[in-house]
Amino acid sequence: MPSLAKSKSKSLKTKKVAPKNGHKNGHAGIRVSAKTAVLKKAGKAGAKATKAGKRIYFFGGGKADGTKEMKNLLGGKGANLAEMANIGLPVPPGFTITTEVCTEFYANGKRLPKALEADVRASIARMEKVVGARFGDPANPLLVSVRSGARASMPGMMDTILNLGLNDKTAAGLAKKSGNERFAYDSYRRFVAMYGDVVLGMKPEKKEDHDPFDVILANKKKARGVKLDSELPADALKELVEEFKAEIKIRMGMDFPTDPYVQLEGAVKAVFQSWQNDRANLYRRLNNIPAEWGTAVNVQAMVFGNKGADSATGVCFTRDPASGENIFYGEFLVNAQGEDVVAGIRTPEKIEALGNVLPTAYKQLLDIRKKLEKHYKDMQDIEFTIENGKLYMLQCRNGKRTGFAGVRIAVEMVEEKLIPKEEALRRVEPEALNQLLRPVFLPAAKKQAIAEGRLLAKGLPAGPGAATGKVVFFADEAEALAAKGETNLILCRHETSPEDIRGMNASLGFMTAFGGMTSHAALVARQMGKVCIVGCDALSFDYHARVMKVETANGVVTVKEGDWISIDGFAGEVINGRVDTTPSEVIRVLIEKNLDPAEAPIYQTYAKLMTWADGARKLRVRANADQPDQSIAAVAFGAEGIGLCRTEHMFFGEGKIGPMREMIVAENEADRRKALAKLLPLQREDFHGIFKAMAGRPVTIRTLDPPLHEFLPHDDAGVADLARATGKTTKEIHERIEELKESNPMLGHRGCRLGITYPEITEMQARAVFEAACDLAAEGQQVFPEIMIPLVGTKKELDLQTDVVRKAASAVFAEKGRKVGYAVGTMIEIPRAAMTAGEIAETAEFFSFGTNDLTQMTFGLSRDDVPRVLAAYQAQDIYAVDPFVSIDRVGVGGLMKEAVKQGRATKPKLKLGICGEHGGDPSSVEFCHEIGLDYVSCSPYRLPIARLAAAQASLKTT
Ligand code: PEP
Ligand code: MG
Repeated sequence: MPSLAKSKSKSLKTKKVAPKNGHKNGHAGIRVSAKTAVLKKAGKAGAKATKAGKRIYFFGGGKADGTKEMKNLLGGKGANLAEMANIGLPVPPGFTITTEVCTEFYANGKRLPKALEADVRASIARMEKVVGARFGDPANPLLVSVRSGARASMPGMMDTILNLGLNDKTAAGLAKKSGNERFAYDSYRRFVAMYGDVVLGMKPEKKEDHDPFDVILANKKKARGVKLDSELPADALKELVEEFKAEIKIRMGMDFPTDPYVQLEGAVKAVFQSWQNDRANLYRRLNNIPAEWGTAVNVQAMVFGNKGADSATGVCFTRDPASGENIFYGEFLVNAQGEDVVAGIRTPEKIEALGNVLPTAYKQLLDIRKKLEKHYKDMQDIEFTIENGKLYMLQCRNGKRTGFAGVRIAVEMVEEKLIPKEEALRRVEPEALNQLLRPVFLPAAKKQAIAEGRLLAKGLPAGPGAATGKVVFFADEAEALAAKGETNLILCRHETSPEDIRGMNASLGFMTAFGGMTSHAALVARQMGKVCIVGCDALSFDYHARVMKVETANGVVTVKEGDWISIDGFAGEVINGRVDTTPSEVIRVLIEKNLDPAEAPIYQTYAKLMTWADGARKLRVRANADQPDQSIAAVAFGAEGIGLCRTEHMFFGEGKIGPMREMIVAENEADRRKALAKLLPLQREDFHGIFKAMAGRPVTIRTLDPPLHEFLPHDDAGVADLARATGKTTKEIHERIEELKESNPMLGHRGCRLGITYPEITEMQARAVFEAACDLAAEGQQVFPEIMIPLVGTKKELDLQTDVVRKAASAVFAEKGRKVGYAVGTMIEIPRAAMTAGEIAETAEFFSFGTNDLTQMTFGLSRDDVPRVLAAYQAQDIYAVDPFVSIDRVGVGGLMKEAVKQGRATKPKLKLGICGEHGGDPSSVEFCHEIGLDYVSCSPYRLPIARLAAAQASLKTT
């Protein structure tokens, strides 16, 4: 085995494998076999690695081989250490072993390349020169840290070894040189334990097991009658070192290695190996980080913050990572090591206080803060250590931030002329804008609730925000309670259906045990801007007993009707009891209109960013809305039209369900028309309200889509009402309901099939649209309705329905004595429609991609049942992301491209949009931009996200 220690063994000739380059982070799609992809790339890139040959990059002494641009090769940590050294910051010297070596290590059956040894020795020699100490020298030992560092930060997932280079001789030397025996043996015992855990694999495997070194340490403290590690005197620490080594001998049958180069080889291998530990694998899967990237290893001279009152260690952000405020934000501990800050054993002090304790180092740190921001042009997260009054920088990287901070920092950096507007737009994560719109739990209140053990369950976070309220199990009861003034309600159900809509609207939020991210509850939540959790399968309901049972780790918790519950739609968390919330500034300005924008700084930064986004994007944005109030909200969020008005949602409004049901149970056209005549004025009024709110912007209205039986009553009282209204017996109504049942309603009598079998429905809807449009035109307002026919699979279906619509338009125009402009188009949501789009475009004046159904039918996977398979499919890398959330660019996207190509071949100016839930997903928006759609349509509350994502997409291509 090649060895960093003097070894005579030969290296094996193994093909080198380099990391896959050019992975698009966050790129949605279905993974092709990950293995095949890696192997294919490996052949090509491997040759490059051999040619480049450089396995180690040195930094320190005021210069470095690497730069911040080399993250792929040096990892984030290595690239930034090099950069800091290059710009003259005080960085302890060291070197980075590249990520390519990690890939080589795995390709070689977990062996280090032979040639590495000489490079490591040469680099250690350079470090020795800069530091003025020698590796393994008992009189003046150089100690090093060995840390991981991947391209993308993976905090805490991989391993670290500190104080490497200590053995009995160097420890004695360190004690002498530092004049601090306690410090030397404390460092030594920490190193032996870390080495045992990380390199020799003595970490406990199960959570019930104890770390063997912790057990010995605890016994020592007991024997010495002390509580804290820091109370152990030097001789006790010395004993610990011996006892730790003895434990290694017993468990591993080997002596603790004394040769520093043997120690180093073991540590480098262990860090490479930690790239494939369970935690790291899981983290990568959750964050879309490819396994083939590999980690770099950073070997760096140790500096110590625990050398007395003139030493310290700390962590800072160059701006506040929670609010984004331009203040130096951080904390430090005097006489401590980095891990003490993180471990929370001692309470760190605010960074400002460092000015009183170590003023020179503090002043230097403030200068570095400025220098780093000017250089990186972004907020930095930094780690530092002060050793005997001298400041060292150990790490810097772009700091993680909340959505609030992300927007504020980006906007303020433009105003400070640090970055251009385009960069600000690129930098803000579109999804982060959600945080600016949603009510939030008061952070302290949520923390306390979790500390009290009130976290009950987790589901899919379908509607972001925070809601706290009383549990209600039935939509009609929610509505009745709301009518009595009860504003804090959480509707909890196994699932929801269209008839629950009013109850859903009456609640602050809702949660279901069943359903995925495009289930009824989820899409209604996003459209209404409600907080929502779906697919929370720990819940089970006993509607009769009016209780909900939640399976938790600590047993079953029963929640009764009227009990308080809190749901966090950002995290999908369900919390027992109340947790206080606060409304968002942006909502108060734009929707509630009870806050002056001049007094809303968060709103102001949001508005600036949105204006810049609108200037940069090419895609237009529309909203999915089917009520006047939703349309008003849509305009406030920047909608340039309505892209989808689901007319079936309107039938659940006050007084509409009765005539709708009469229409469905009608057994002949005459009776159906009678019922439709009752619906006409009600629907006309809705369209009137929407057109008015949209003030001349285009409004796409879809004719009736879902299966009819969804509208039928499910309870005896509803059946009795319907019997009364239609003059039938309840038995006859039951029989009719039975007749209307379908085995597979999603693929049954829905969409344009309803209008084909009962053209009078389409006719009534078209009439309602045109009457409302003419009335508004008479009032002097511009209107532009676009009638959209759903679920078309053949040109003939569209021809027939278009004919009905056009006849209704002509009739209304003749009656009213005025005309309005309008268009008739179709949804492309059936694979056959996409494949025959050229023909369909002969009739259609526009296409709107219904990617919910298109995904369902392309995958042959029901949109409501996807949660049952999703976890297993994602765990096995079959789906990289939920295809109902992000467009599958290859399959569904392939059909879309084909439809765009065929459609525009027939009609070069054919208007193209998307109205499936994907219209508000940043990756899907980018795809829509790429394939040349004209607009995306999404729920009103996702419009800011779509606007920013559209701007980012166009900045990528310009
Ligand atoms: C779709 O299928 O993408 C769509 C927008 O229609 P719905 O969700 O109402 O079926
Ligand atoms: Mg559809």
